Amino acid sequence: MRLILLGAPGAGKGTQAKKLSEKYGIPRISTGDILREAMQKGTALGLKAKSYMDSGQLVPDDVVIGIVEEKLKDKECIKGWILDGFPRTLQQAQALDRILTGIRTSIGHVLNFEVNEEKIIKRISGRRSCESCQSAYHIYFNRPQKDGVCDSCGGRLIQRNDDKEETVRERLKVYQEKTQPLVSYYSERSLLKKIEADDDIENVFTRICSFVL
Ligand code: ADP
Ligand code: ADP
Ligand code: ZN
Repeated sequence: MRLILLGAPGAGKGTQAKKLSEKYGIPRISTGDILREAMQKGTALGLKAKSYMDSGQLVPDDVVIGIVEEKLKDKECIKGWILDGFPRTLQQAQALDRILTGIRTSIGHVLNFEVNEEKIIKRISGRRSCESCQSAYHIYFNRPQKDGVCDSCGGRLIQRNDDKEETVRERLKVYQEKTQPLVSYYSERSLLKKIEADDDIENVFTRICSFVL
């Protein structure tokens, strides 16, 4: 299984990536999670990423490409991988092609999560994320068993700094400008699969599982 999950912020990529990773035992590479963890720890990477993330801009290509390259070359990824939130620019997509050629592998499918903008805003505004393990919950659509507490690890659930309304609008704009062009990049290569992601979490998951293997 070698998958790319593509789609607007809040489309449900992280939620599905986690479920796929648990069901099939394949590692998930989420650039957003890696960057947030670095920010929490205050590492050089985190300090570099913070101002971009807080303002809803993309972190520079060379930074994220370096992160993903290192992960993909790790032996953990030999049996497959799920890329969640990468690539997000044409430069990143081209770099990924070079990296994969270099390690003699290729992309299996690119899943394009299609959700209308109104739903996206509802999903993001109700998202609560675990401070410790980054699992995503929703105040209406995906509630934790105990309010404010992560089911997976007991961590505290918080609203992400960049999930505030003004920043969300900026992120959606950046998505349209920088990431949307990847839809044609991958459809021209016959790798793109449309996912109707408007449905509830379990239905979307069933749909994805029916053709990813
Ligand atoms: P979402 O899926 O809700 O958009 P992510 O966790 O994927 O959120 O990304 C959060 C932020 O992290 C982005 O707005 C951006 O600043 C940064 N980021 C994550 N992945 C990338 C990437 N591939 N390229 C550049 N910036 C990224
Ligand atoms: P992304 O990684 O694409 O930014 P997430 O997986 O974090 O998206 O989902 C965004 C928010 O929407 C979270 O609060 C999540 O619990 C919720 N969510 C995810 N998938 C669905 C769905 N199919 N229906 C309703 N809410 C969803
Ligand atoms: Zn947790």
